[in-house]
Amino acid sequence: MRLHNTLSGKVEDFDSDGRVSLYVCGVTPYDTTHVGHARTYLLFDVLIRQLMHQGWQTNYVQNITDVDDSIIARAAQTGESYQALGDRFTGIYMDDISALGMIPAQAYPRATDAIPEMQEVIRRLLATGHAYRVGGDVYFNLDGVEEFGRLSRLDRADMLKIEADQDGSTVGDERKKDPLDFLLWRSSGPGEPSWGSPWGDGRPGWHLECSTLAMRHLGPSVDIHGGGADLVYPHHEAEIVQSQAVTGIKPFARTWVHVEMALLGGRKMSKSDGNMVFVRDLLETHSPDALRLYLLATHYREPLDFKSEELERCSEVSLRLARVAHASASLRGEELDPTSFVRRFSDALDDDLNTPDAIDVLKDLLSALDTTTGSSATHRAQRSLRTLSARLGLNLESGR
Ligand SMILES: [Zn+2]
Repeated sequence: MRLHNTLSGKVEDFDSDGRVSLYVCGVTPYDTTHVGHARTYLLFDVLIRQLMHQGWQTNYVQNITDVDDSIIARAAQTGESYQALGDRFTGIYMDDISALGMIPAQAYPRATDAIPEMQEVIRRLLATGHAYRVGGDVYFNLDGVEEFGRLSRLDRADMLKIEADQDGSTVGDERKKDPLDFLLWRSSGPGEPSWGSPWGDGRPGWHLECSTLAMRHLGPSVDIHGGGADLVYPHHEAEIVQSQAVTGIKPFARTWVHVEMALLGGRKMSKSDGNMVFVRDLLETHSPDALRLYLLATHYREPLDFKSEELERCSEVSLRLARVAHASASLRGEELDPTSFVRRFSDALDDDLNTPDAIDVLKDLLSALDTTTGSSATHRAQRSLRTLSARLGLNLESGR
């Protein structure tokens, strides 16, 4: 199969000796799953199905960022502990992805379960001069690290601008050797979650969490690393340089897959802008299949501007799909040969997960069957409709 690799900027052949390790940056559990999250994890769900279809075994890990500025701030608003808030929204996320029929990852490690391992990574980075201390904080030392910026292809001015907009930005801290040096360990303020360390009480930096968990579960080099496109810089750039500095093994990730953003009214769906559409609200009135068909109808490397009218149309398609897939077909009349549909569908998914084209093929097969059901539909074509639907994760239960 072919996959776009952010690192090379090209669609490349993706091959495996039979086992594929996949690490996808997971949620920060402080709010309900929105369409942007669902879109990202659905794409990786289709990728997992595609890898399995090739006969490959997958080892899929998705982290839960359960300690973070946004969780701490939200917990302060709701009066809960950050742990209780994180547990509550992790549960909601798990329910939402299960409602969407996603194949579960093999592991959902939590950041707070790996603090000793993260501290060990920091110790090793300090020992080799890849990190330095500023007060109770520890920063990664970017001096001489030429690879930083290769994934995002951003120049220094752009990186500085983006870095300045991050939550809790340290870009203006003049004690740092380079304004772009990023936090590995941050000292905690009063009342904030903290763990004891040789550098004082504090908590790990976000980037370090994913490097540590990816290495812990999947080894020093993963086959596919993925996430939303907004993670390319600084998160994934930081993961690459700190992981490679600690293991000496390149590349940290062979193929990088990034899913473009979901928009609402042309603006990125985000908590800070308050313009979000939540999965569970949509599932009140639409089937999981309808939502899948809708979210997968835009290629993952294009932004998706949410339009409820289009979701309505997908509801109609999902109803027809379920009806025709389960209609008792008559064996009389002309045979409908599904071979060319199956080939076109597979070609589409093999070509950098072109789900919009795959859905078009599914609709073509549906129409061909729909017009013949009751007179000449065949079991074989109907079976193909069901197996191709399954490759997109559609469950073909009758919609609501
Ligand atoms: Zn991550």
